[in-house]
Amino acid sequence: MSAAFITIRLSSETPDAAFTSHLNLTENPMTARRQFIQWIPAAGLALMAARSAQAEMVGDKDANAVALGYVADATKADKAKFKTYAAGQKCSNCQLYQGKATDAAGGCPLFGAKQVAGPGWCSAYAKKP
Ligand code: SF4
Repeated sequence: MSAAFITIRLSSETPDAAFTSHLNLTENPMTARRQFIQWIPAAGLALMAARSAQAEMVGDKDANAVALGYVADATKADKAKFKTYAAGQKCSNCQLYQGKATDAAGGCPLFGAKQVAGPGWCSAYAKKP
């Protein structure tokens, strides 16, 4: 079996080696090219799935989090400052929580695209009916 190389140039006007990468495929060039082209969308989908799975979490120090007294662990809520806190309250049983009750994290409309921790809490807590 002989090795075949496919050269991919990102720009035909810049044949600079920095813009060129090589694939060492052990098949005929046409088959290898077809396989490579089929592989690109799958790799893109895998990358997108990995990124969405790693949605950014709200940090306790984020300005909005500080204003609302958000903490990733409800038991660490500032009970002196936020007297509405009661034991057992947490994001995962709040009306605004967009994840499932068993999810480690989920969305909350108060924090945009960032996710809050299921065991978290903030002063806007509203018990899920
Ligand atoms: S509003 Fe509810 S879900 Fe959102 S951060 Fe506060 S306690 Fe958690």
